[in-house]
Amino acid sequence: MWQDTVIITRRVRHGLDLAADLEKAARVAEFAIGHKDERLTTRHVAHIGLNSTFSDMTLRRYGKRPPMTFRRERTKLEVAGSKVKPDLESHSVYIPAFRTALRVEFPRRFIRIREVVFDRDFAHFVFEVSADDRMEVQGWLGVDLNIIGPLAVVYVPTLGEVLRIGTEFYFLVKKYQKIIREVTDARKKGMRQRLYRRRKNRITDLLHKSTSKIVSLARDQQCGIRLEDLRGIRRAANPKRPQRIMVQQWPYFKFRQQIVYKAKMAGVPVQLVRPGGTSTTCAVHRVTGRRDGRTFLCPVGHEVDVDENAAMCISATVGKYEF
Ligand SMILES: [Zn+2]
Repeated sequence: MWQDTVIITRRVRHGLDLAADLEKAARVAEFAIGHKDERLTTRHVAHIGLNSTFSDMTLRRYGKRPPMTFRRERTKLEVAGSKVKPDLESHSVYIPAFRTALRVEFPRRFIRIREVVFDRDFAHFVFEVSADDRMEVQGWLGVDLNIIGPLAVVYVPTLGEVLRIGTEFYFLVKKYQKIIREVTDARKKGMRQRLYRRRKNRITDLLHKSTSKIVSLARDQQCGIRLEDLRGIRRAANPKRPQRIMVQQWPYFKFRQQIVYKAKMAGVPVQLVRPGGTSTTCAVHRVTGRRDGRTFLCPVGHEVDVDENAAMCISATVGKYEF
């Protein structure tokens, strides 16, 4: 299923003092939550004094489906794309509500701005862009995602090579697990929070580098990308304890999301392959073998690294779903 558009976001520092407006937005949100059974319009919250461009969006967000836990300090100012004026020549977007223009690099194949979300420091632009035409592929990269070891093991059929991507992933997870465990003092809750945040940033960064690498490799090799559909991974049958920790931290959805949007931008098709069998089937001979530690033993008589065999299996399996 090849979709025509992709949503991407870009953030820029706005340099505006929005403290007062953010406070008003929080009050509008509280009002919406408090009157959730009523049909509210911006007139109902006119007394708060927030620009109606913003209060309209805030009422929509909080009126329809109020969040389970409302955190007023996280309230943002949202403005619909139809209420701002993009100027592609000067690389800027005029925001009438603030009577100011912000500089922003428009993405390639820009169609329109869906919305702009302001927090204390940043303006987050949500762009709709057209996807590139689907490339004709010569083969499929088989991407085996790992819980232990490198983030991804990639088989490149056009080169007959196996690449390991994001090799520092396991090290990173281990390192933070150790540091965080050492902060046992209950009074150091803030410190632990900081460590969680830092770990998240490091992993996100690594994910971005890895997914960009895989997509540009696919593009260069004129290959599509095949991934296992690991939606069940978090429910994996009773993994042992250290493994369970990895499973919970495994950012599979983010990885897949990034692969899909970057691939679509580049015209690279992505297929999801039914999981299972990749550790018991020989990718070359298509017969059932067995694994011994990190080695796959094929009954025909050859041996191969289990991750490499899995990546090759995925590369050769027709996907059940294509993005
Ligand atoms: Zn074999």
